Amino acid sequence: MKAEIIAVGSELLLGQISNTNARFISSQLAELGIDVYYHTVVGDNPNRLLDSIKIAEGRADLLIFTGGLGPTKDDLTKETIANHLNKKLVMDDHALIYIEDFFKRMNREMTENNKKQALVLEGCTVLPNKHGMAPGMLLSNEKHSYILLPGPPKEMEPMFQFEAKPLLPKLLNEETIILSHVIRFYGIGEAELETKVQDLLENQTNPTLAPLASDGEVTLRLTAKSDTEKDAWHKIETLQAEILQRVGNFVYGYNNDSLASKLRELLIDNNLTISAAESMTAGLFQSELAEVPGMGEALVGGMITYTEKIKVEQLGVKQQLLSDYGVVSSQCAEEMAVRIKEKFGTNIGIGITGAAGPDGHGGQPAGTVWIGIALDQMAPVSYKLSLTGMRNTNRLRAVKFTIHYLIR
Ligand code: ATP
Ligand code: MG
Repeated sequence: MKAEIIAVGSELLLGQISNTNARFISSQLAELGIDVYYHTVVGDNPNRLLDSIKIAEGRADLLIFTGGLGPTKDDLTKETIANHLNKKLVMDDHALIYIEDFFKRMNREMTENNKKQALVLEGCTVLPNKHGMAPGMLLSNEKHSYILLPGPPKEMEPMFQFEAKPLLPKLLNEETIILSHVIRFYGIGEAELETKVQDLLENQTNPTLAPLASDGEVTLRLTAKSDTEKDAWHKIETLQAEILQRVGNFVYGYNNDSLASKLRELLIDNNLTISAAESMTAGLFQSELAEVPGMGEALVGGMITYTEKIKVEQLGVKQQLLSDYGVVSSQCAEEMAVRIKEKFGTNIGIGITGAAGPDGHGGQPAGTVWIGIALDQMAPVSYKLSLTGMRNTNRLRAVKFTIHYLIR
């Protein structure tokens, strides 16, 4: 099964908005193991849209459209498809009642052109729009299937995920179970990971194996198809066991895990609290932790100690230490960790200091980072990073490495 996503809208071609719809739908289809070979973007023009449809029909089985379902003159997607497929547009009573209700609730007069939104392709399955007015549609003939979705992402995303996606396995005429599983890595580059699993990548069929890198993290997505869920899982587990044997020491989690969510688990399970004194990351470490619900049971607080003066006066780092070793040093990072731990009365204290770039800092080149960790009843430890990214990439990497050191 090959799919093509056709995003309709002149504003996409004018560079006014990004085609996030194609991105969303592609990632959803990947979970189902459906291949997307082309993304098409076409303006609000019926002739050019028709050309795009014909081209897509020549190279895909499933055509997914977004945009152009609204009430205005430039919204022509369903009209063009109806013409092309020789289908009438018929009034869908449910959709019409819903639209009328919508206007009543808003206390607004419904104009005639709004009725147009309740017109659907004859014989289609109507996909209700729970977050807007224009319903979506799904239509199949012997050769192709067509899914029509509205343009606004807040309408399109839930409609695709909850109305269209569950119909896809049946639409594909496959009784196949498709399972998808993500393994998450940190501390290993994409190239190194791919080298270690090269043969598995080359010989993949079922499960398929897809690597993805972003923000210093690498993931492998395993997608298996089978008649039964049990067998699909078995396939995934077998391949996963092989992967873990080779690069298991870089795995930090699975599926929706994040580095921060794993850290929260670890802290809560062990009844530990944490605080941080941040210099180059200026609160980013705590912000990253705070993204995880329930972090308040473990994250007590911290300080942003950006200048030397504040490190000395407010945090209590000795001026002499800064003079002797510099602010970007293991000594400073460890001292920051020890001081914040004492000040906030936590089990763990973190100190992050470095030169984010583009210029060096404290006598150290850009990208130098020292991470200090102070734990109960132990001498503090520190780790050095020599990062090569741009300023804010380095700041985020410093945060992620800190979490990584804590959870591994
Ligand atoms: P409406 O009823 O709002 O007119 P519609 O289905 O007719 O919806 P469009 O008119 O094509 O859709 O687009 C409406 C809005 O949806 C756009 O202004 C844009 O904000 C958003 N949108 C459309 N297509 C995309 C896309 N491919 N990716 C992201 N956003 C999009
Ligand atoms: Mg519109």
